[in-house]
Amino acid sequence: GNGILPEEDNKPSSALAGVNVMNVILVAAECAPWSKTGGLGDVAGALPKALANRGHRVMVVVPRYGDYSESKDTGVRKRYNVDGQDMEVTYFHAYIDGVDFVFIENSTFWHCQHDIYGGDRLVVLKRMVLFCKAAVEVPWHVPCGGVCYGDGNLVFIANDWHTALLPVYLKAYYRDHGLMKYARSVLVIHNIAHQGRGPIDDYYHLDLPEHYINLFKLQDPIGGEHFNIFAAGLRAADRIVTVSHGYAWELKTVEGGWGLHEIIKCNDWKFRGIVNGIDTKEWNPKLDVFLNSDGYSNYSIETVKIGKPKCKAALQQQLGLPVRAEVPIIAFIGRLDPQKGVDLIAEAMHWIVDQDVQLILLGSGRPELEAMLRSFDLQYHDKVRSWVGFSVKMAHRITAGADILLMPSRFEPCGLNQLYAMVYGTVPVAHAVGGLRDTVVQFDPYNETGFGWTFDRADTSKLIDALGNSLNTYWNYKASWEGLQRRGMMQDLGWDNAARRYDEVLVAAKYQW
Ligand code: ADP
Repeated sequence: GNGILPEEDNKPSSALAGVNVMNVILVAAECAPWSKTGGLGDVAGALPKALANRGHRVMVVVPRYGDYSESKDTGVRKRYNVDGQDMEVTYFHAYIDGVDFVFIENSTFWHCQHDIYGGDRLVVLKRMVLFCKAAVEVPWHVPCGGVCYGDGNLVFIANDWHTALLPVYLKAYYRDHGLMKYARSVLVIHNIAHQGRGPIDDYYHLDLPEHYINLFKLQDPIGGEHFNIFAAGLRAADRIVTVSHGYAWELKTVEGGWGLHEIIKCNDWKFRGIVNGIDTKEWNPKLDVFLNSDGYSNYSIETVKIGKPKCKAALQQQLGLPVRAEVPIIAFIGRLDPQKGVDLIAEAMHWIVDQDVQLILLGSGRPELEAMLRSFDLQYHDKVRSWVGFSVKMAHRITAGADILLMPSRFEPCGLNQLYAMVYGTVPVAHAVGGLRDTVVQFDPYNETGFGWTFDRADTSKLIDALGNSLNTYWNYKASWEGLQRRGMMQDLGWDNAARRYDEVLVAAKYQW
């Protein structure tokens, strides 16, 4: 455990699913490694494997945005009516690491492969309608290893607003009519900021009976009401999960709930926070495939003192920074979005470049923020490098080579990069919000506990204080620094713990009538 978990949570994860073995179908708009824009893709790629390890029969359903060579056409084609238009989908299948992956093909998914959430509001809406309609029926139509899952003893795990229609369709089309009687749904909130909002009339593109409209209505603070898909999903789902305890708490506040706090408060009985795990095969300095070339080096807690400096030198070399072992490398990795607080780094830039440090920024997203990163690189080229783009390889290499990971997120449902950082012996400095509050326990120099530094307000002076404290420790208290690294690396942040908690939610959903 990471030291902040209650006692009962430290039980070994060998108490597996047992009599409660179920069929579990996770439905998501993205799934790593095929499609990924952020944490949702990582979760969709990793949680199912952990649930399968616990003994469940587990499937992931995701759009087929590209030509995924490992998947095979099942020959199953079905037609769904979307807003008066007949649309055909083809189901593809692959069985990997004990999990069935079903990819749904239709040209609407191909067309957005380079920007999977891109496009006009109604185009995106209809894409999600088709995806959800086609996903609910997968257990009926798509044979996996020769046999369809069927709809008994079945729990769907839907994710974010993109698939929040699934719990609604499950009720309106099937359960209201005595079908899929033993199927349940769980909706996971990865990020409440995107909700699938629109004018009330958007409802008429969903092909739902009139009386379902109230599920979708949400009052505006300034009066009036709008259409909101996330609201409907939260109301219709049998259980709701979010990705940390801190975020679970914030979602019930006016500032953190983004208009949905009242619904979440009313549904508190079915709501729970579970911190994401990390994929310990992919994100493991010992096994990391991006560290076995170009001068980088794999390392473990035993060899961190040799391996990590090698990675640091290789990173400095690769990016053309002065190769100096003693200079701390501060890194930022993330989507360039106001959420991630890059503007705070911008405001702290003068202070940062006054220190004897190197700063490496990796990100893609908003064009104006990409331009800002490029300008830092030009302006402070003796110590700053910006890598504008989405590079999984560089994310791994920077995580390994850096000393400090800066995460000044304004809000952060869970956050994965701080978890990756800690298991790579890279010390996080983070805004204490959402999942960052749960996972980055503040360093206590008197007791030599904690994993990094946090600051309690999204404010430049607070960030500078925390970063200053971390640099001071790096330069002047080597033993403390090594302790921070060691404690971070010793944590068990894999999916087993999280999967056990998801199991409890699945069981609770199953026995709900
Ligand atoms: P979010 O889901 O809000 O984007 P998370 O921290 O939960 O944030 O997950 C982000 C994931 O995306 C991590 O795996 C991170 O390494 C990855 N990532 C973000 N930006 C980039 C980038 N520019 N290049 C490579 N990976 C990135």
